[in-house]
Amino acid sequence: MQQSKGAEIARGKTKVLYECAGEPERLIVEQMDAITAGDGARRDVISGKGRLAALTTSRVFRFLNRRGLPTHYLGGGEDVDHNAMLVRRCAMIPLEVVVRRVVAGSYARRNPGVPRGTRLEPHVVEFFLKDDEHHDPMIAVDEIVARGIASPQEVERLGALARATFDALEEAWQDRNVTLVDLKVEFGRLTGGERNGQLVLADVVDNDSWRIWPQGREETMLDKQIYRNLAQSDAEGLARVKRAYEEVAEAVAGFDSR
Ligand code: 5GP
Repeated sequence: MQQSKGAEIARGKTKVLYECAGEPERLIVEQMDAITAGDGARRDVISGKGRLAALTTSRVFRFLNRRGLPTHYLGGGEDVDHNAMLVRRCAMIPLEVVVRRVVAGSYARRNPGVPRGTRLEPHVVEFFLKDDEHHDPMIAVDEIVARGIASPQEVERLGALARATFDALEEAWQDRNVTLVDLKVEFGRLTGGERNGQLVLADVVDNDSWRIWPQGREETMLDKQIYRNLAQSDAEGLARVKRAYEEVAEAVAGFDSR
């Protein structure tokens, strides 16, 4: 990637955003080697995880761009020596949009009457407010609008884009006999330029963003849930997590040829 990093403008639990020197409508995203769970209550560093995350994100975004889905991804993320990804600048909407095909995770906890593993048809879209301090509470559509987070039209579009993203990724994983169980995505509004205000899929989509079950079996999971389930962060457990992230980065490379 040619662009050079400018000032740091934001730092999350697993990534850093930089200005892009001389390009006010672009930013550079770097993913870190950190892995966290429980809103940051648990944290480890897995050497090479940032690069695997950047590989996964850039391959997924390239695939989605080719499918006609609007994302902030412009290029990069696939270099061997570093993981800088070039993106369009946007104002993030403070929501996590979750699409679910199979009952698992917090849905199973909130709906004890629905057995884990139940297939949801059509898939279910849920919104969560990004607020680590209060553990990202679920938020209703009316509240999103009433609190001025997004307009009714935008909320509808967010749901439609999240479903379309899920459908594209579900199909790509299904080709590999892997069930996409659920997916978390985030959106932003483009700032500057003629597409100012347009909603785009932003942030990252990596192996922390979904649950994926090869052969549809929970016990064969390849995603971050392996880390969440570790009784303790010992070397063996973290090595197992890294192997799964390597396998996923490799698998999504094939999405591009669909
Ligand atoms: P759940 O609500 O069941 O815990 O999570 C639903 C889906 O969203 C899962 O695929 C999970 O990995 C993802 N997800 C939920 N919260 C976060 C988060 O804070 N960060 C990331 N990367 N993914 C999340």
